[in-house]
Amino acid sequence: MDKIKNRITDRSPLDLDYDTMKEMGYQVTDIVAKHLSSLRSQPVYVTMPRDEAEKLMPKEPPMEGSSFDAIMQTLNHDVLPNTAREPHPGYIAYVPSCPTFPAVLGDWFVSGFNFFTGLWDMAAGINQMELVVIDWFRQWFGMPQGTGGLMTPGGSAATHTAVVAARHHVLGTDYADITRLVIYASDQAHSSVMKAAWMAGIPRSQVRKISVDDQFKMKVEELITTIHQDRESGLLPLMVVASAGTTNTGTVDPLHEIADFCENEKIWLHIDAAYAGFSILTERGKQALSGIERADSITIDPHKWLFVPFECGCLLARDPSLLRDAFQVNPEYLKDAAASQSKVNFSEYGEQLTRASRALKIWMSVNYFGMQAITEAIDRAMDLTLFAEELMKENPDFEILSPAQFGILCFRIHPKGMDHSSELETLNQEICNRVVAEGSYLIATTRLRGELALRICILGFRTGKEDVEGVVSSVVSNAKAILAESRVVADHSL
Ligand SMILES: *Cc1c(COP(=O)(O)O)cnc(C)c1O
Repeated sequence: MDKIKNRITDRSPLDLDYDTMKEMGYQVTDIVAKHLSSLRSQPVYVTMPRDEAEKLMPKEPPMEGSSFDAIMQTLNHDVLPNTAREPHPGYIAYVPSCPTFPAVLGDWFVSGFNFFTGLWDMAAGINQMELVVIDWFRQWFGMPQGTGGLMTPGGSAATHTAVVAARHHVLGTDYADITRLVIYASDQAHSSVMKAAWMAGIPRSQVRKISVDDQFKMKVEELITTIHQDRESGLLPLMVVASAGTTNTGTVDPLHEIADFCENEKIWLHIDAAYAGFSILTERGKQALSGIERADSITIDPHKWLFVPFECGCLLARDPSLLRDAFQVNPEYLKDAAASQSKVNFSEYGEQLTRASRALKIWMSVNYFGMQAITEAIDRAMDLTLFAEELMKENPDFEILSPAQFGILCFRIHPKGMDHSSELETLNQEICNRVVAEGSYLIATTRLRGELALRICILGFRTGKEDVEGVVSSVVSNAKAILAESRVVADHSL
């Protein structure tokens, strides 16, 4: 007894005192604030091969600790620079994430207090905040009272949660028919839809990709025929996933038509609005997304257009009791914490038991800036994308492959007389590589109807007119340089 008691130290060295914590916290704050306020002078994208990255830090964990200064030194010099800068004004590839500073501090609070948001009683105040934030979303999306949901690590997790809930709704606890389930989405739907279906045990061959029209919208006729055929051959249509802003082009599927059909056929309608969802705060976004309020569930991603850091997704569900039916377990060791009517245990609505607060960072950012400023930032990004399209239309060497929708624009350089797909592809891929290599702008390519396209996606609030002009002129000057170097220069000069 005494032997054990005596070897226990009075205080663990892990338990730092107030002054030390404060000093360390200020150092980190200073590094982050410097980083965020000097992004424009940094390269937007730095990467390195694995074998070089391996030299950056020792592989063995140290037995003895080091000074905080030394750790900051290693991070500052070796690690932090070798990354893409998502919040950079020139980060206009994929779907950027550009968090506000209050939202960043929100995450710092969340780690600092380490709230446990799986169970109501562990964090009543913070859980109430999640309910409040989800109700903001409900109102923004025009969903009825009673709609609920939960914050998730991202859009992929939100969609997965919806598919599992729909599966439970259709099959209950008898899985004999799981191999008969079918999910439908357009061939432009995000890859996370397929993954969600796979994880939920839907046979891979029964994730149907419905083709799209010339505007990349799901062909509803084909959806209807496919579902009727599937029913006739004894399959069970589980869910239609409509896109409300595809990642490729920003296209919105015909939501009302799809909703009419799903209502008649009693098929769960899930709408993936991970990318474009928060544009609903703007007038034009609200118009473009009309019909989204008819969904049974919606995936949205605050870590995209609500300007909060990773990770932050959200699932809205018209009938949240269907989530609870699918995910509630009530094991013995959680009996004490079982929810009464009025308390919400978020762990009963999705996969995670231990979960961090994702609502706090949203709440902090929205309270600090107010909805007007946030809405204007979304509108501004859409205007910048329209501005990019205007600039390109002034130059006949640009071909718009998909017009500005939300913040997305797809285009290519198409010199007069160069009409071979493969030549155009080589040229535009090389333009992309060179623009990126210059370090000011990160853009990327995608493929539309088989053709290589350059794609920009403007979302962040640091991006400005000068960046739109800058990236357009960088595309033009690189195209000129490539054509001048190549043998075809005589035929295809810009
Ligand atoms: C980003 C995105 C997703 C996936 O969301 P994650 O947060 O990356 O998991 C799904 N659908 C669409 C349309 C997206 O843009």
